[in-house]
Amino acid sequence: MKRAFALLLCCLGLVLAAPLPATAASAPTAVSFLGRDWYDLAAWARANNFSFAWNHKARLVQLTNRTTRLVFAVDSQQSVINGVKAWLSLPVTVQGSKVYVAVLDVRTMLEPLLKSTRPRSARKIKTIVLDPGHGGRDPGNREGAMQEKQYTLQLAQQLRAKLQAAGYKVLLTRSRDTYVDLAERAALANRARADLFVSLHFNARGTDDTAARGLEVFCLTPTTAASTHSPRTAVSSERLPGDKAGAQSLVLAYQVQRILVRQLGMADRGVKHARFVVLREATMPAVLVEGGFMSAPDEARKIADPKFRARLADAIADGIQLYQHWVER
Ligand SMILES: [Zn+2]
Repeated sequence: MKRAFALLLCCLGLVLAAPLPATAASAPTAVSFLGRDWYDLAAWARANNFSFAWNHKARLVQLTNRTTRLVFAVDSQQSVINGVKAWLSLPVTVQGSKVYVAVLDVRTMLEPLLKSTRPRSARKIKTIVLDPGHGGRDPGNREGAMQEKQYTLQLAQQLRAKLQAAGYKVLLTRSRDTYVDLAERAALANRARADLFVSLHFNARGTDDTAARGLEVFCLTPTTAASTHSPRTAVSSERLPGDKAGAQSLVLAYQVQRILVRQLGMADRGVKHARFVVLREATMPAVLVEGGFMSAPDEARKIADPKFRARLADAIADGIQLYQHWVER
C-alpha cells in the first residue's frame, strides 16, 4: 500500500491546495445582515490573491489562483473546492450588487482547507478507532436480505487490515454482531486516547430523494450553524466535545471524500455537516463515511461484493494518509 500511496501523493500534489499567502490575515471587514456576519466575496478573494468571476446567468461565482479553484452557487450552500463538493453552513447570498459568504464558513471551512498552518492541537496519528455502524438488535438499513450492520463490520475488518499494514494501531467499537450504544462508541475512542475516529455506514434513500446514490462524508456541524439537511432554523450554540477537533475533522472529511470519489468514480454527494452522537462526543478528529446506497440496485451489488469493499477500504486508508501528511508537514 505504501508504494501506491506514494504514487497517489505524486498524482494529487503534496498539499491540498496552495497555502493562502501571508495577506490572508488581513481579511476584509465583515458586515452584518440576516443576523449573521458576512464577507464581500470579491473583497475576500482580493485579500487572498484569488481572481473573482461572477457568472450572473449561471448564478455561479468562481475564485481561482494558480492551484486552487473555488466554485460557489448563489443562494445555495453548495460549493466545489478543487473539484470536491463541500456543503457550506449558510448559502452564499446576494445583497445589493455584491455576493457575500458567511464569516462562519470562511472560519470553519475555507481557512482550515486552504491555510498553510494546521491547528496547534493537531497531533500525529498512531491509534485509529473504526466504528462499524449498527449491530446486534440494530440492523441499520435493510434491503431484501441485506443488512447494513453486516457490511459495515466487514468493511471495518478490511480497513483495519490495511491500516495495520501501514503501521497504525487500530481498534474497533465492535468486532462481532453486537449492539453498542452510540455514546459508548465515542467514549471507547476517548478512553483509548485515539487520534482519529472513523464511523462506517451505508446509505438508504429517503422518501424525498428516491434516486439518491453516491458517496458522502460527514463531520460535526460547527457551533451556531445548522446541519446540512436540517431546517435553517435548527441552529445550536451548544459547545460539544467534538468541537475541540472541528477544523481537523473537516480536513479529514474532505481528504477522505476526495479520495473516495476519485478512486471509486461514484457520485460526489459532498462533505456534509451533522450532529450525529458519535461526531458530537468523540474528542479527536472524527468523520462518518457513507459508502454508497443500499437502495440503489447497482450500488447494493457493489456493497455486497468484497472486492468493492476492498477498494472502499483502500480509498479511506489513502484519505487518512493524506490527512496524516497534512498534520505532519
Ligand atoms: Zn448506518
